[in-house]
Amino acid sequence: MRKGIGVSPGVAVGTAYCINEIFVNPETKRLEESEVLDELGRYDHARERTATDLNALYQKVASQVGPTEAAIFRAHESILHDPAFTAKIRAWIVDERQTAQGALHRLLDEYTVLFASTNDDYIKERLADVRDVVIRLSGHLTDVLQPQLGVLQGPLILIANELLPSQVVTLGQREVAGIVTESGGRTSHAAILARSRGVPAVSGVKGIQRHVKNGDTVVVDGREGHVLVNPDAETISAYLKLQREFFDLKDTLAENRYQPAVSADGHAVQLLANINNVADAQAAVAMGASGVGLFRTEYIFLTHPDVPDEEQQLEAYREIIAASPNHQVTIRTLDLGGDKTIPYLGHAREANPFLGWRSIRLSFEHPEFFSKQIRAILRAAVKEPGHTKRVRMLFPMITTLEEIRRVRTMVRKARQQLEAEGKPYGNVRLGFMLEVPAAAVSIDSLLEEVDFVSIGSNDLVQYLMAADRDNPKVNHLCQPLSPPVLRVLTNIIHACNAADTPVTLCGEMAGAPRAFVLLFGMGLRSFSMSPAFIPMIKDLTSHLTRKRAERIVRRALEIRTSAGIQRYMAAQIAEIAPNLKLLDTA
Ligand code: PEP
Ligand code: MG
Repeated sequence: MRKGIGVSPGVAVGTAYCINEIFVNPETKRLEESEVLDELGRYDHARERTATDLNALYQKVASQVGPTEAAIFRAHESILHDPAFTAKIRAWIVDERQTAQGALHRLLDEYTVLFASTNDDYIKERLADVRDVVIRLSGHLTDVLQPQLGVLQGPLILIANELLPSQVVTLGQREVAGIVTESGGRTSHAAILARSRGVPAVSGVKGIQRHVKNGDTVVVDGREGHVLVNPDAETISAYLKLQREFFDLKDTLAENRYQPAVSADGHAVQLLANINNVADAQAAVAMGASGVGLFRTEYIFLTHPDVPDEEQQLEAYREIIAASPNHQVTIRTLDLGGDKTIPYLGHAREANPFLGWRSIRLSFEHPEFFSKQIRAILRAAVKEPGHTKRVRMLFPMITTLEEIRRVRTMVRKARQQLEAEGKPYGNVRLGFMLEVPAAAVSIDSLLEEVDFVSIGSNDLVQYLMAADRDNPKVNHLCQPLSPPVLRVLTNIIHACNAADTPVTLCGEMAGAPRAFVLLFGMGLRSFSMSPAFIPMIKDLTSHLTRKRAERIVRRALEIRTSAGIQRYMAAQIAEIAPNLKLLDTA
């Protein structure tokens, strides 16, 4: 058995599909002189087929998901057509008699070594794109290293170092039962995708690519973070039973997804969705969310070759609002930097990117696009006849009162400008992400300046515990269910409730049963999460009473260790909602 971090709950048994096998099986064969021309022809043919693929993917994703998400394939086309890229491959085939496959592998190695010496996250992201193109090219060169999905039988378990950007947007084409990756933590591409699809997943499984080959039987236990490769028949049948229970549970929960979210003693909660694109907004509707509590706009920017202008943004926001449940959307302004960077903002290398020039700090330095974003959101909020539209604007990573005042001034100016230009705009409430401990400490003064608050517990926990949320080595510290985090959350929720300021929590813990019970007990009534978790949390709510949850919080606040809180909460969930056992994770 191999152990990683369970990043999406549930159990899956399936056939291994190793997406990145090219990386573990480099080709070393040398060509005979007589083979060189043929090999060049094979490479050119693979390039043509790759170009056709990318164009078809662009068209398909653009029409089914949206042009913004599809833009990544245009970026990949430009890598494919980069003369330097092709010149290198051809030179190695001709001068050094390498196979095209071997040359591709070498090119990737070269880029990897080159980029390893940089801390620039933008460059690292481009490496993922280059790798994506190389894998696609390689797929057209050999069917051995990159089998077609159709060859493999049964539900698939994807095995990868990480999921690549283009795979993330196209995976829906085939039933995927589970995902296992070597790198990444709870907030990696793979983890977010897995959760949004309700697919069990385990990340951070060291060496998994070397131990699994295509066609192996793999068990993924997303609750415990366990991965089993070719286990014995008895183990397989035990997990198949668990998997059936998992499917049954999902079906049962999904049946009640349009029920109101109310506790057993009549307290209503608001269950909202976290989304990145139109497809997620549709999933939010399908899962019974009552609105969107967090729309992460950076994905529009990350998948765009340059700064999307005001009209392009307006169009994108309108599309999202139209597709969202009840047309209620909280739009977060750009939250770039840290782990997400884009080239056109000229991001410099930093020693501590998460503590540096990121998020709102970066937006302030770029008023030319920040003002455009504010204007586009205000314009997208214009009510249409028959719409119950409600748009809110959320500012990430607010640390000080000055920052709140500064954004308010910017919004006021944007309204005045629009007024002067005769462009209609809507009524938009303003709030901030509470994700920096300093803001939690001075919450009282911040509350006076805003209409609502959204607790970004993913960042709040990493900053409070000084433990990188994406680093599996410090995952044991980056835990929401720890004594200091519970105390801080209690204070924040009480302060917001006392000031009558609406408060939502939109970090990953909102969709975790143990954390949800505690948050409800602290008095929180609005939660935003991956759409796939909404039916489960709705069911859990219906088993809860306020008194019981408050009692649980009082007891949990007395426990002095994270492990103790986990044990206590596991027992509580087992009592409150034994039916959810399969979806309850630490
Ligand atoms: C958070 O920090 O909790 C959050 C919801 O935002 P993100 O995960 O995008 O940083
Ligand atoms: Mg955050």
